[in-house]
Amino acid sequence: MISTMRTMITCHWSARRIQRYLDADPAAPLTPGEVSRLESHLATCEKCSQVAAEHRTLHRALSALPGRPMPDPAAVLRLRGFVDQLVAEEQR
Ligand SMILES: [Zn+2]
Repeated sequence: MISTMRTMITCHWSARRIQRYLDADPAAPLTPGEVSRLESHLATCEKCSQVAAEHRTLHRALSALPGRPMPDPAAVLRLRGFVDQLVAEEQR
């Protein structure tokens, strides 16, 4: 039970950083410690590695279609739903 909660919190922690990690945003860089923690979590967590894969897909869609501001809306909704679910689980 404790380990389940810890995993959930780590997932929530990771979900908030995956985008920054993939964007490599110079305005909000992750520390080397955060990067290594995130990478090791992605290596062991199927849910979060799925989220990272979705982000990469969105990135590719955005860079491939510069004329379209929005990527596949279904993918965005799935991703948003996943993050909302993580937040809801943590607050329960
Ligand atoms: Zn996770």
